[in-house]
Amino acid sequence: MKITFHGAAREVTGSAHIVTINGKNILLDCGLFQGKRKEAFEKNRNFLVDPSKIDVMLLSHAHMDHSGNIPTLVKNGYKGKIFCTDATADLCEIMFQDCARIQIHDIEFVNRKRAKQGKKLFEPLYTVEDANIAAKHLAPIPYSAPFKIFDNIEVCFHDAGHIMGSAFTEINFKENGSAKKLMFTGDIGRRDIPILKDPVVIKDIDYLITESTYGDRRHPPAANVKAALKEVVDKICATKGKLIIPAFSVGRTQYVVYLLNKLYAEGQICPLPIFVDSPLSSAATDVYRKHRECWDSAAVEFLIDGRKPFDFENLRYTESVEESKSLNEMSGPMIIISASGMCEAGRILHHLKNNITDPRNIILIVGYMAENTLGRRIAEHRKEVKIFGTPLPLRAQVEEISALSAHADEFEMLDYFDKCGASHIEHAFCVHGEQNALDFFSERLREAGMKNVHIPSPGEVFEM
Ligand SMILES: [Zn+2]
Repeated sequence: MKITFHGAAREVTGSAHIVTINGKNILLDCGLFQGKRKEAFEKNRNFLVDPSKIDVMLLSHAHMDHSGNIPTLVKNGYKGKIFCTDATADLCEIMFQDCARIQIHDIEFVNRKRAKQGKKLFEPLYTVEDANIAAKHLAPIPYSAPFKIFDNIEVCFHDAGHIMGSAFTEINFKENGSAKKLMFTGDIGRRDIPILKDPVVIKDIDYLITESTYGDRRHPPAANVKAALKEVVDKICATKGKLIIPAFSVGRTQYVVYLLNKLYAEGQICPLPIFVDSPLSSAATDVYRKHRECWDSAAVEFLIDGRKPFDFENLRYTESVEESKSLNEMSGPMIIISASGMCEAGRILHHLKNNITDPRNIILIVGYMAENTLGRRIAEHRKEVKIFGTPLPLRAQVEEISALSAHADEFEMLDYFDKCGASHIEHAFCVHGEQNALDFFSERLREAGMKNVHIPSPGEVFEM
């Protein structure tokens, strides 16, 4: 077996790894690189391998840093199926389209500048049509249902408890007469978080490719999240400002809505209007409503009580651009939950631009912010941030609830691998993390008993 690390190697976005077994190239994830525009532009366009040489693709979950470059892959010659869970397929269909629109919008911005400079214009990474063609390659498979991809190679998806449809990928294979098991985590979810079931424990792993996003950090207890959210909502009710929550459309948005729903039902927060202002978030919430097979027992209990997890009286999912714009004219207190998660595109940029200079407002960070993103600069409380090219003073308050994370932290990941049987693992590869997290977490995995722990560099190949 051979593993080639193409993306999310010593970085956090662009997840893509090729596992070669019995001469077959299996691509795990095909995520979008996010970050500095020029670098992302290059990396997203140039695959390290010819897509037509890939025999099959397995997708862990629908987040863009894991799935967002699939349309480029298909556009450049990938002809095979893309296996994933049912909910992931539903989510990807809407997310590919949305991402295409962002790519087109982004390139128009770049091209306006280039046109003025008399430079050659760029094409978008992919179009809506490319996105639709790519979605046709998605092949949904239920959780816990093993399926054969080639002779002597069988795959099974297990619930990863990270976002709806997220999966751990288990590959059982026989090579040169010996049977081995490889596990690719995609992103590792957390136990006891709302809506989703707990991550499924996989035993007898020989080779492991694991994410490391929060490998050097500990989240506050998840039980405190509701109380922390209540505190921030109370603050905004007092200042009568606007609480702006940049949240990933898939996962974080539904998590926040679910908790606000609970706080509202229990009479714990003032009855302020709450808006989910992102067409993608609304569409993603439809997928969350549909896939009840992914809900945990507490989410199901909502229905038993005659209520709905993602809908309540004061909550509104905006539809038109006009309605989104009208939120500017409204006075607080109010809550606007908008995409994108790292504040790089979408309606959130308009809300930030309109509200970031007013000290009555609060920007609530609820997710991971990669380096070189606007979200990161806000989370770092920079004095000034650039939005749409205009420098603006950051006067709004910035709060953070890191326990809302959908990623397991160091302690949770170690606990998970302990249950899997860490000492059985011959080779572990730490990917999807910034350098500090990778260094720290790889050391913890060694201490946990894993024999060979590696931090692969981009393009690095390991043969076992
Ligand atoms: Zn993810």
